[in-house]
Amino acid sequence: MIPVRGYEGARVAVLGLGRSGLATARALEAGGAQALCWDDSPESRENAQAAGLMLHDLSRSDAWDDVAALIVSPGIPHLYPEPNRLIARAMEAGVPVDNDIGLFFRSLALGEWDQHDSPPRVVAVTGSNGKSTTSALIHHILTEAGKPSQLAGNIGRGVLDIDPPGNGAVVVLELSSYQTDLARALTPDIAVFTNLSPDHLDRHGGMGGYFAAKRRLFAEGGPDRAVIGVDEPEGVYLANQLVEHAADDRLIRISVERKLTGPGWMVQARKGQLSEWRKGRQVASIDLRGVPGLPGTHNHQNACAAYAVARTLGVAPRVIESALHSFGGLPHRSQLVGEKGGVRFVNDSKATNTDSAEKALLAFRSIRWIAGGLGKDGGIAALAPHLGEVKKAYLIGHSARDFALQLGETPHEICETMAEAVRRAAEEAEAGDTVLLAPAAASFDQYPNFEKRGEDFVAQVARLL
Ligand code: ADP
Repeated sequence: MIPVRGYEGARVAVLGLGRSGLATARALEAGGAQALCWDDSPESRENAQAAGLMLHDLSRSDAWDDVAALIVSPGIPHLYPEPNRLIARAMEAGVPVDNDIGLFFRSLALGEWDQHDSPPRVVAVTGSNGKSTTSALIHHILTEAGKPSQLAGNIGRGVLDIDPPGNGAVVVLELSSYQTDLARALTPDIAVFTNLSPDHLDRHGGMGGYFAAKRRLFAEGGPDRAVIGVDEPEGVYLANQLVEHAADDRLIRISVERKLTGPGWMVQARKGQLSEWRKGRQVASIDLRGVPGLPGTHNHQNACAAYAVARTLGVAPRVIESALHSFGGLPHRSQLVGEKGGVRFVNDSKATNTDSAEKALLAFRSIRWIAGGLGKDGGIAALAPHLGEVKKAYLIGHSARDFALQLGETPHEICETMAEAVRRAAEEAEAGDTVLLAPAAASFDQYPNFEKRGEDFVAQVARLL
């Protein structure tokens, strides 16, 4: 655990008592603060109390007397679509609002780091898609290279739950836009921006607010190194804002869509070939085509980002190459879960928006596509140009009929449930086909989360095989 510094003897309110809220409360107490815990759900309150934490009813009118800060969980909106009523009251009372990420950076900055020969370093990864894969891959490469590394944030453990990093250690944080938006301190040593496509717009008051939330990772603390995907205009803009001159090597540009040139530091993947360039010369290259855990161009983008981070931390290209080959991939992201009679079954339940579903559809050939769930604005209209490899779609969930209307000439049938979709797709599949779950929709109409949806797919496949 990282004890929270800077609030010794103070009263700090914690709103939201899920996994990260409970860890935050414990870390506050360990640092000498008094954690005042609250959650709208009585069940969560009981859990907290059973864990020995103190409840404090934040809905009372005198709740904010002597409260130094309010720490909130990422799921609770502080501004858009409208502020949570308790957060609004804290703001009216002049109480600063923060999150566990802000406490983490504040606590690290106050630590006794001058006692280390090689102070611990924090890598923070943000972007619309590929954050988890990139973070896990960085952690894997560092571990394989023999460097102590911990993975935390949106993936792995809560940030305040990790062990205090020692000499030469690295902390890899996956950060969502909700987390970067609110954190009052945000000072990673290396910051990564994978890509940008519309998502969570209601929580950020539109695309500008969404980009601004991610951009804070680069603007608040000024990382020593920035790794930026420049395949969208926002990435190009961000990269240009950070450099003093064209050869400034505090920035590493990454791309999978175009050939980058110039004197700067860059890592790109074209036709499955990753290459690192510095001062106009190629320094190293890696063939990604046979790397089993990272199929498709989207994963090559993740590989470029992770490679760039590992290089800034002094890992040799050949060590990175061998670690890429031993990376098993993450569950629910382009995950091969079974094979029979030449038909492959791939679970990409995490493809909850059209951008990530598009990447999955481009990563495989001859696809029997299982899609649907709780569709987002615009349905699957954006996928129309990318259906060339789809032999047939098997539609499930709330948006099945809406998706069917948008499929045009692409053969499809409404299956309603996962069990039926897997059964029908497997029945019709021929050798060489891939049965791909890439829903392009949220899971909440039929499942508590995308993990449960993916597990259901895996279970249905296992039954058939
Ligand atoms: P995040 O943590 O940002 O949600 P994940 O690594 O969990 O990212 O991947 C989310 C979804 O996006 C999965 O469906 C995955 O296959 C797809 N994906 C992974 N990397 C990328 C990328 N670089 N660009 C677009 N889609 C990606």
